[in-house]
Amino acid sequence: MEKQNIDWGSLGFGYIETSKSFVSIFENGAWDEGTLTSNHTVTMSECAGVLQYAQTVFEGLKAYTTEDGRIVAFRPDLNAARMADSSRRLEMPVFPEDRFVEAVREVVLANESWVPPYGSGATLYIRPYMFGANAVIGVKPADVYQFRILTTPVGPYFKGGARPLTLKIADYDRAAPRGTGHIKAGLNYAMSLHAIVEAHAQGFDENLYPDSATRTKVEETGGANIIFIRDNTFVTVGSPSILPSITRRSLEYVAEHYLGMKVEEREVPLTELSSFEECGLCGTAAVISPVGKIVNGSEEICFPSGMAEMGPKTKKLYDTLTGIQMGRIEAPEGWICRIK
Ligand SMILES: *Cc1c(COP(=O)(O)O)cnc(C)c1O
Repeated sequence: MEKQNIDWGSLGFGYIETSKSFVSIFENGAWDEGTLTSNHTVTMSECAGVLQYAQTVFEGLKAYTTEDGRIVAFRPDLNAARMADSSRRLEMPVFPEDRFVEAVREVVLANESWVPPYGSGATLYIRPYMFGANAVIGVKPADVYQFRILTTPVGPYFKGGARPLTLKIADYDRAAPRGTGHIKAGLNYAMSLHAIVEAHAQGFDENLYPDSATRTKVEETGGANIIFIRDNTFVTVGSPSILPSITRRSLEYVAEHYLGMKVEEREVPLTELSSFEECGLCGTAAVISPVGKIVNGSEEICFPSGMAEMGPKTKKLYDTLTGIQMGRIEAPEGWICRIK
């Protein structure tokens, strides 16, 4: 397979149109069989449910080339299950989970020439998404939906290695206790834009949201879960209003079963932050981004791992998970989905 003529090493994290996208339509109560299309533009009613009332959910995963030349995806079954959960919460029809994984396979194969080579640091980002597509003016769920998957090659999230981030305890709330914080919906991102633009203008990299009810416990940032390390313990946030990150759940397994760490998924009070040794953000895009500092009003929490590099235990977690993904370390059963 002839690869695209791209300087893979200098790719950024932006959208580049590839060969094919996948599209399936839900109409009259059923999904059609779905097809690949080279039309990367969506046309719909100006009154579509997604445009008027933001009825849309999405997922994000990556396909990449392993050390021995296979093309694989990482745990796409979990993306399928999470999208089903997101869909149910927004009264959208579920795209069947087995067909989701099959569609990922199909669209990656159709864009094989766009899958970056091993060692380039780049990957093929896969974005499944679904939206209400017919006209809705009274507030109710749409009747017609599109499930689509677009792919785009992306470079390493952090060029030249990961620089530790500075987080700000957000002035805004992200998710209400019984709201939509646990689903991957565009609406959670729309409302985070003002907060992130402000935080950037103040010199911070990300907002770390406290729980909305009491503002005393840590939740997550706008697009990543947060992880902590103290001694030999890996601490993550247990909360019904955060997005269940697949990277975080995978790291919990890696910490316990590969690195012999103790794992705690639980409430994390803001007052505990200063007792951790290392901190990071996790998600598909960057796997782990180290956090060097968290600013809470006039208080500055500086982690001992510092502002120059990833903490040593965070690095071990990062190296082990990326090693599993790239085929250098044996993966737990079912984690690596072979596409070719
Ligand atoms: C997508 C997302 C994450 C990361 O989830 P992964 O499955 O690890 O990519 C974390 N938080 C939010 C709010 C997200 O939307």
